[in-house]
Amino acid sequence: MFSYRHAFHAGNHADVLKHTVLIATLEHLLEKDAALTVVDTHAGAGLYRLDGDYAGTSGEAAQGVLRLLEPPVAAAPAKKAAAPEAEAPLADAIARYLAVIADFNPKGGAKVYPGSPFIVQHLLREHDRLKLFELHPTDSRTLDANIAQLEAGRQIAVFSEDGFGSATKFLPPPSRRALVLCDPSYELKTDYGRVLDFVGEALKRFATGTYAVWYPIIPRPEAHDLPRRLKTMATKAGKSWLHATLTVKSSKIVTAPTGETRRPGLPASGMFLINPPYTLKAQMAAALPQLAKRLGQDRNATFSLDAGG
Ligand code: SAM
Repeated sequence: MFSYRHAFHAGNHADVLKHTVLIATLEHLLEKDAALTVVDTHAGAGLYRLDGDYAGTSGEAAQGVLRLLEPPVAAAPAKKAAAPEAEAPLADAIARYLAVIADFNPKGGAKVYPGSPFIVQHLLREHDRLKLFELHPTDSRTLDANIAQLEAGRQIAVFSEDGFGSATKFLPPPSRRALVLCDPSYELKTDYGRVLDFVGEALKRFATGTYAVWYPIIPRPEAHDLPRRLKTMATKAGKSWLHATLTVKSSKIVTAPTGETRRPGLPASGMFLINPPYTLKAQMAAALPQLAKRLGQDRNATFSLDAGG
């Protein structure tokens, strides 16, 4: 069945974007006392070791979270007389993301990388709820075991079910406040259409929920269409939206002198939110240029930020 395992990708540039947005959104929603329900439709294993076999094989975190932990390289002054450009203070959203990573790594560094379930649980209050869906049998068992260690009782429920098909049963939650993270692996081409169906159904059931969708930016028509169609959906429903993307390198296939071709790996990804916090645009406007600068791997590194509604 599925071959995607998030452990190979934990802490990569896409996780940095997704989790930075997730934390900024969640912290805003937690400013109100009323209970919040967080639904994570594609939860993964919950917690990862970046020095473990999986993450070590791909080394993706080295180009992601680990880069943010390195001191910034000061740009060489253009002329002898010019003063070196002072590094701007870290944007608040990035600082908050790194503070959460640091909470899981009290000795420093990032040997342990929290996935979305652990990030969310870490920030939730006792009266908030977390519903987790993970379909991969191995990751679902690992998630169960990781969550059991938290002894969180009724606060967290784990379902070894299809998140697209089952997660809307929790909408609307009793407190009528929810954040839904939809973060599929897009291993199947049909995932793009299923995201649209899921968000459409969720909005019908609970129009005031906050929805956050992660997607890969790859040369595939479905990937380009997804944010456009989400924007149309939000606009038709009269809902506000925010779209943030981060590109770290070119998407061109590299051809070696031997004629061998090499895929570049994931070059970019995006987050599309419906009913985002009103504070998020300013936070991401400060964070995205810094992320593009610090995580960029070639001169194609860039970002975009758009919002409406
Ligand atoms: N949200 C996680 C995080 O940020 O740490 C990462 C999730 S990973 C990108 C996607 C996960 O979805 C994988 O673990 C995969 O096994 C799981 N998955 C794939 N199809 C699913 C489905 N239909 N329902 C629930 N989980 C699914």
